[in-house]
Amino acid sequence: MAIATVNPATGETLRTFEALTSEEIEKRLVRAEEAYREHRLTSFADRSRLLRRAAELLEEDTPEIARTMTLEMGKTVGSARAEAAKCVKAMRWYADRAESLLADEHPKQADVEDSGAARARVVYRPLGPVLAVMPWNFPLWQVIRFAAPALMAGNVGLLKHASNVPQTALYLESLFRRAGYPEGCFQTLLVGSGAIEGILRDPRVVAATLTGSEPAGRSVASVAGDEIKKTVLELGGSDPYLVLPSADVERAAKTAVTARVQNNGQSCIAAKRFIVHTEVYDVFTQRFTEAMRALRVGDPMDDTTEVGPLSSERGRSDLAELVDDAVERGAAVLCGGGRPEGYEDRGWFYAPTVLAGVDATMRVHREEAFGPVATVYRVAGLDEAVELANDTSFGLSSNVWTRDRHDIDRCVRDLEAGGVFVNGMTASHPALPFGGVKRSGYGRELAAEGIREFCNVTTVWEA
Ligand code: NDP
Repeated sequence: MAIATVNPATGETLRTFEALTSEEIEKRLVRAEEAYREHRLTSFADRSRLLRRAAELLEEDTPEIARTMTLEMGKTVGSARAEAAKCVKAMRWYADRAESLLADEHPKQADVEDSGAARARVVYRPLGPVLAVMPWNFPLWQVIRFAAPALMAGNVGLLKHASNVPQTALYLESLFRRAGYPEGCFQTLLVGSGAIEGILRDPRVVAATLTGSEPAGRSVASVAGDEIKKTVLELGGSDPYLVLPSADVERAAKTAVTARVQNNGQSCIAAKRFIVHTEVYDVFTQRFTEAMRALRVGDPMDDTTEVGPLSSERGRSDLAELVDDAVERGAAVLCGGGRPEGYEDRGWFYAPTVLAGVDATMRVHREEAFGPVATVYRVAGLDEAVELANDTSFGLSSNVWTRDRHDIDRCVRDLEAGGVFVNGMTASHPALPFGGVKRSGYGRELAAEGIREFCNVTTVWEA
């Protein structure tokens, strides 16, 4: 894939970039190692000051970097500004709390006495340069979610961003430099995915985190496994959204629209499969479909647009294939189902779509629909709802709408996912761990769990 900025709203190539040569990659690896040697010795106060300065700069830069993101991957400019604000919040959250999240832990003396220790403690030390392979869908947030805790822990970062967001990738490196981080603390590597194996096998790179598709995750994890290097994987999702008889159906339907079409439908934690109890199915489906049909699709730079284009031509054709396959096998199209009017030959738009009558023979039942396409299922009871919700290889998050405590407890016990969001939609927050089970990946980002993933949890035993 060429490293280039291609405007998804028009299909026009705006800028192309040369990939780094192997000599240039080597230079950056040297810098990363040198920077780590210094950075690991800095105090939390110093790290916090730097990260706060980066947050301040990002806040100032928001209007401009939001437009760059929209230009590169098509999200609506309002959601791009919201993404930048979320990054600022997470940076400040870790700047304020990293020291306490990584404070030494002292097991009770009575618990360790028979180990022979006069004193024992657990110390969180950094690991070294960590490679971050990141996707285009939240081109700032996915990176900051890794970088803020990693830098606060004393690690340094090497970013291999998706090839379609090079300007956002370069902005991130410059942001950290302008904030005062020494050269090498956070570097962007403009390289194609073919260069990753060599970088990951380099002994100076100690671990990797990847957000993206299952094949990309498998590839990075295999190389890292071969090298015995730690990985965190945040892969796709096909989150269920259960609407049960006691739900506030109006709110559930309204929130369902946002949950499905956020980021033009290209979010791993978007609700994708709407599993609705037969008692409320008709009213939910009618409200949901009406609202999906009414969404304003258009120019993502226009503040009134609600759904912009998909990020790439391939993204749109993959999505169209999923819908066409379902329709051929008998699914009903309640709205959408193709390119929206006025965008038949311009940009990579796809109309917000609702499919009903989906069954297990259809690809869309099993695969992640990475765009504004919802599937609605009718179920007779909670057992069937839970079974259907779990009938997927993914396990990122889940949503349930009910006022019944028993339903909630049952979902928390039985839904196979890294999150259960009750009467609301899944959203990440710095204070809450984020990640999945099954083919959605492993490890956690954010919160205490996230900052500890790339630490050497060191046992100190003193006689
Ligand atoms: P990819 O997984 O291909 O891209 C994500 C990142 O991984 C990019 O930096 C990419 O680099 C890199 N990459 C791609 N292939 C490899 C590889 N074999 N080894 C190492 N790194 C690799 O996502 P796509 O953009 O192709 O999207 C495809 C599907 O992935 C989507 O339809 C969606 O289902 C899922 N996805 C999920 C995301 C999430 O948030 N969980 C985010 C993005 C996609 P390069 O750009 O140079 O190829």
